[in-house]
Amino acid sequence: MAVCDHCGKRAVWRDAASGAVLCGEHFSAWYEHLVADTISRYGMIPADSRVAIGLSGGKDSTVLLSVLAKLDLDAEFVAVTVDEGIADYRDETIRAAETLVKRLGVEHRILSFADVCGKTLDELLAVSPERACSVCGTLRRRALNMAAREAGADRIATGHCMDDEAQSVLMNYLRGDLRRVTENYQTNAGELFVPRIKPLCRCTERATVAYGMVNHLLTRLPECPYTRYALRAGVRSELGLLEHRYPGTLLAIVEGQEKLLAKLGPVRGEVRRMGVCERCGEPTENRLCAACTLLAKLEGRV
Ligand SMILES: [Zn+2]
Ligand SMILES: [Zn+2]
Repeated sequence: MAVCDHCGKRAVWRDAASGAVLCGEHFSAWYEHLVADTISRYGMIPADSRVAIGLSGGKDSTVLLSVLAKLDLDAEFVAVTVDEGIADYRDETIRAAETLVKRLGVEHRILSFADVCGKTLDELLAVSPERACSVCGTLRRRALNMAAREAGADRIATGHCMDDEAQSVLMNYLRGDLRRVTENYQTNAGELFVPRIKPLCRCTERATVAYGMVNHLLTRLPECPYTRYALRAGVRSELGLLEHRYPGTLLAIVEGQEKLLAKLGPVRGEVRRMGVCERCGEPTENRLCAACTLLAKLEGRV
């Protein structure tokens, strides 16, 4: 039986990069420290913040809210759940979210796609389910931004972990999207969008799930039925294999991207001005915002 390096109790975690072997208690402390360190390194939560936490009820956001509530932060939290309207999937995860906020005593708001655009995701995708993740992502960004503003929050925290970050970097390359790879300009978006933070961006998904299990936060929940259509699903499983065989791969991808942007330097002088959407009043660089453009397309009006 493997035992903890610190206390000799039964180990539950072996860190592939450092070789450290930890019991449940010391692993949890290590994970919480990693999140606290990420928050302070990137100045994510200044004193006296009011942070909206995107709480889907899935594993990553459940761990995020639980850890933030536990850390000694000078901040107020409000959990925001977006109900996309996905049959046989969403109801269960919303119930999980409600149980969690009740236990932690955190304020909770639920906003549905129907509130944002008058339709559920299932209705929007009836004709082209293969576009699910981009449609859902665009509308969810808008819903979260709206809900956070209404809740008077000055930050939106999401449960994206290091795997998600590395997948996004790689997907930009796989699509040949050089603009996204090198995007490093200044905008006035901060005045219009509630700024986003990702406190789990240095935690692997494997560690995040382990934290959830060790702390009895996770119940068996259904997977989103649409994920199988996405390029991300393929990238996710391949990257997962690479990380398993060559630990540190995810961190190298994420840090490599940061180094690239630092080397390119911000585009000085030029600030991209954003305005507001003609239809909905949300921020955009164009006449219509991404969500309204998408809705117009889905409704066959353009
Ligand atoms: Zn221990
Ligand atoms: Zn709009």
